[in-house]
Amino acid sequence: MTDSGKRHQVVVIGSGFGGLFATKGLKRSDVDVTMVAKTTHHLFQPLLYQVATGILAPGEIAPATRDVLSSQKNARVILGEVSEIDLANKTVTSNIQRRQTVTPYDSLIVAAGAGQSYFGNDHFAEFAPGMKSIDDALELRGRIFGAFELAELAETEEEIERFLTFVVIGAGPTGVEMAGQIAELAHRTLRHDFRRIDTRKARVILLDAAPQVLPPFGAKLGAVTKKSLEKRGVEVILGGMVTDLNERGLTVQFKDAPTQEILSACKVWAAGVQANPLTKTLAEQTGAPLDRAGRIGVNPDLTLPGHPEVFVVGDMISLDNLPGVAQVALQGGKYAAKAIDHSLAGKPALPPFKYFDKGSMATISRFSAVVKIGKFTLSGVIAWFMWLAVHLAYMTGYRNRVYALGHWLTSFLGRGRSERVTTEQQIFARRAIKRLEGGTAAVASSPDDWNQVRASLEEQALLEAELTDKGKRGVHQDAR
Ligand SMILES: Cc1cc2nc3c(=O)[nH]c(=O)nc-3n(C[C@H](O)[C@H](O)[C@H](O)COP(=O)(O)OP(=O)(O)OC[C@H]3O[C@@H](n4cnc5c(N)ncnc54)[C@H](O)[C@@H]3O)c2cc1C
Repeated sequence: MTDSGKRHQVVVIGSGFGGLFATKGLKRSDVDVTMVAKTTHHLFQPLLYQVATGILAPGEIAPATRDVLSSQKNARVILGEVSEIDLANKTVTSNIQRRQTVTPYDSLIVAAGAGQSYFGNDHFAEFAPGMKSIDDALELRGRIFGAFELAELAETEEEIERFLTFVVIGAGPTGVEMAGQIAELAHRTLRHDFRRIDTRKARVILLDAAPQVLPPFGAKLGAVTKKSLEKRGVEVILGGMVTDLNERGLTVQFKDAPTQEILSACKVWAAGVQANPLTKTLAEQTGAPLDRAGRIGVNPDLTLPGHPEVFVVGDMISLDNLPGVAQVALQGGKYAAKAIDHSLAGKPALPPFKYFDKGSMATISRFSAVVKIGKFTLSGVIAWFMWLAVHLAYMTGYRNRVYALGHWLTSFLGRGRSERVTTEQQIFARRAIKRLEGGTAAVASSPDDWNQVRASLEEQALLEAELTDKGKRGVHQDAR
């Protein structure tokens, strides 16, 4: 109980991995939990690319949070985008349409994740959607399948080529999985569906400014993945930085080679990540540092400096080189819940947060994946079955698991993609919203210096690979 005689009030911001597992972790605690999130679902982001390429339905990777938490009587869910966190008065302000809600808290867990970064070129988003939400995935689904449709109608070879050139920008796990799936669509799934075009002639390009594929998996698995993608018909272009991008295509700048123009109707942005802007307000109020990706520095127990009642978890934090992956968020959410529970029960404080690395995996195509668990690495078909088992285990709800398994059998053993539906509204939604907000010019910006962006991307990729290869992730600063 608090001084006012009310139960201890916990507010959780976000319904992603961090937010959901924090809320669930408080199920048996003597608290009231209010989850404030801007979507009504819990999104399993690692499978977004399968929604975009027609394998899974949105509901299978995005169950309603209200449904997931329906049996947890001490939790309520409210819809709204948090615009303000007042640490002095302990309130969270959220908005939905014109309705504003102010929710007071005794403890706060902030798990608002990260968004796409276009390195200062936000206007690229209109022509190369990112992969962060169900909206993004459905828009991309429309653009990918739509490009094949428009190629079938095209009058000239040049037009056909432009519609059948797909460029995925960013060779991290999302880019690799996306490029692999588009190649599979072109070379296998859609092969017999068109009469005029040969979908196998499609060019699928995976492009990155960094010198390697999959930096977080280390140098060796990066090289294996590149080779495997190339075997499946994906053109991998490294060291190429996108300096311009529009409806017709993109401009790629190289360090020691001439600039290249690539004509492409369908571009996917999987390149950069920027922490949720709520980190800025938290930094301003506490003096906590922000890193290059806008992530906030937290104490070893995931609290903010001077605010033991405020936890920040998941993709928003910068701590001990922890990667932006689901397990960091999930374990951070559980840790914050346990810390609150311990403090209310008068138990000793928890030791600092320690991330248990369960490994990373990425699919390249059907029956092919890469897996890294500590020093153990694996690629190929066994790795793919491991990927399948782990993703089934971590999906929310048994019904979703059964449906997803059914779709995987149809798509990977057969050639079926039962989720190819797209609507005009999905494809044009982004433009319509931008127009409502005052046109794309309102978001246009450009970075100061492309060389600086390139240097920073190269440095980041090398650092990622080195941290993985030398096992330095999640190791506290003073223990290194
Ligand atoms: C395409 C893709 C593929 C990925 N693949 C993998 C993978 O294979 N393996 C892996 O481990 N990780 C993967 N990740 C990363 C993983 O999904 C993230 O690390 C994880 O989701 C982070 O969890 P989180 O709780 O910090 O944030 P999120 O899961 O992003 O959740 C953030 C939540 O906050 C809400 N929110 C945001 N802003 C506000 C606001 N202002 N007000 C209210 N609510 C707000 C959002 O709606 C969301 O519910 C992938 C990510 C993406 C995008």
